[in-house]
Amino acid sequence: MGQETFSALKRSGAGSGGATLPTTTTARRASSGGISRGRQIHKTFNNLKITILCGFVTILVLRGTIGVGNLGGGGSSESESQKIIEETNRIIEEIRSGIDPNERNSTESEEEFLNPNVTYTLGPKISNWNQERKIWLDSHPDFPNFVNGKPKILLVTGSPPTPCDNPIGDHYLLKSIKNKIDYCRIHGIEIVYNMAHLDKELAGYWAKLPLIRRLMLSHPEVEWIWWMDSDALFTDMVFEIPVSKYDDYNLVVHGYPDLMFNQKSWIALNTGSFLFRNCQWSLDLLDAWAPMGPKGPIREEAGKILTANLKGRPAFEADDQSALIYLLISKKDIWMDKVFLENSYYLHGYWAGLVDRYEEMIEKYHPGLGDERWPFVTHFVGCKPCGSYGDYPVERCLSSMERAFNFADNQVLKLYGFRHKGLLSPKIKRIRNETATPLEYVNQFDIRRPALNAHKSS
Ligand code: UDP
Ligand code: MN
Repeated sequence: MGQETFSALKRSGAGSGGATLPTTTTARRASSGGISRGRQIHKTFNNLKITILCGFVTILVLRGTIGVGNLGGGGSSESESQKIIEETNRIIEEIRSGIDPNERNSTESEEEFLNPNVTYTLGPKISNWNQERKIWLDSHPDFPNFVNGKPKILLVTGSPPTPCDNPIGDHYLLKSIKNKIDYCRIHGIEIVYNMAHLDKELAGYWAKLPLIRRLMLSHPEVEWIWWMDSDALFTDMVFEIPVSKYDDYNLVVHGYPDLMFNQKSWIALNTGSFLFRNCQWSLDLLDAWAPMGPKGPIREEAGKILTANLKGRPAFEADDQSALIYLLISKKDIWMDKVFLENSYYLHGYWAGLVDRYEEMIEKYHPGLGDERWPFVTHFVGCKPCGSYGDYPVERCLSSMERAFNFADNQVLKLYGFRHKGLLSPKIKRIRNETATPLEYVNQFDIRRPALNAHKSS
């Protein structure tokens, strides 16, 4: 499977630059023949023109994609674009360095680690959040935590404060947030995008913990905080979380009890997409979850404990997912009665088994199912599109993300009468004619309609 997808990816992965390269090869292949001399000269002249044009385009593409600095002599527009590239690179480096040019003398030390003998905490211990929150809600009826029987949900996602290692990573972050904005707009969910490290100890995949805590405390009107990774995309724009199923639970996460408690697998659950109820229990769980997170020796040592105790886990620093699995396994009696391990639909769906089946899904099924027939979420675990290394070939990851994005975007574009030309194409085509009576289509294609009706009847 991998190899086929890989070569298909390579073709599409080149993006707009890729479109020019085959033209150059075709031009070279076309230079055979032996007809009349006049036609030959004419043909040669044409070929020469095409070759020069292709060469020019290739130089532009090379400069744009790999940033080759000194190709050709260059006129004024050439040096102008060179200046822009240099200035862009300078600014990116400045942002990455983390130094504010106006505060050059800042004495903040970079590599100071926490004392491993002190248990790390996310903040001052809060022990009466349920009462405090209730008092607040009662005195702020204009900020209700339930509207028409539906709990208020806040979707939270984010990415590092600095630019991605590769510009394409930033492009996919943009596509990913567009995908989430679309889902949230359709389903009346609020959204927060965070790029700050609220706690410098908990950078990287641990950053979600202090963020979720902060959002719970700052938005008492929010009933559920729903974390979703930046590398996870909604692929079923119709499906809604069956939230009333979780009335008696405080944490909902995609996972399998057998993998957790019998196999102690390090992939028994996935922390790329999960929901926390805004309550004391969740604050307590976050407190119990965080101590393995501080970067440096604490995280390194904790990683060894996790690898020793979780099946299949490679040796590396402690990550949030393994730490949660370990906590829930070792303190099962304390926590599990309020944890819902969901696997009846893809609250998180592992991309590798899904992205190659989208055509089959389109042929056989329809959005709204959320499970293996039409996955709710497709998560690009291990792809690291914003970083410089991942567990999979970058071309395979990028084209798979493109497919997932377009698969979902087609569901959004349907209301407007368009769809992508193909799952790898950013271009769209019309799927129905314009009409003088547009409201018919609103009733027929607005995916908020079935959602609204479903709610009325439940
Ligand atoms: N993340 C963040 N700030 C950071 C680094 C990561 O908010 O500085 C978020 C980002 O949304 C990312 C998630 O943490 O998707 C988890 O990391 P990743 O998806 O790379 O881990 P994986 O799912 O591959 O295990
Ligand atoms: Mn992820």
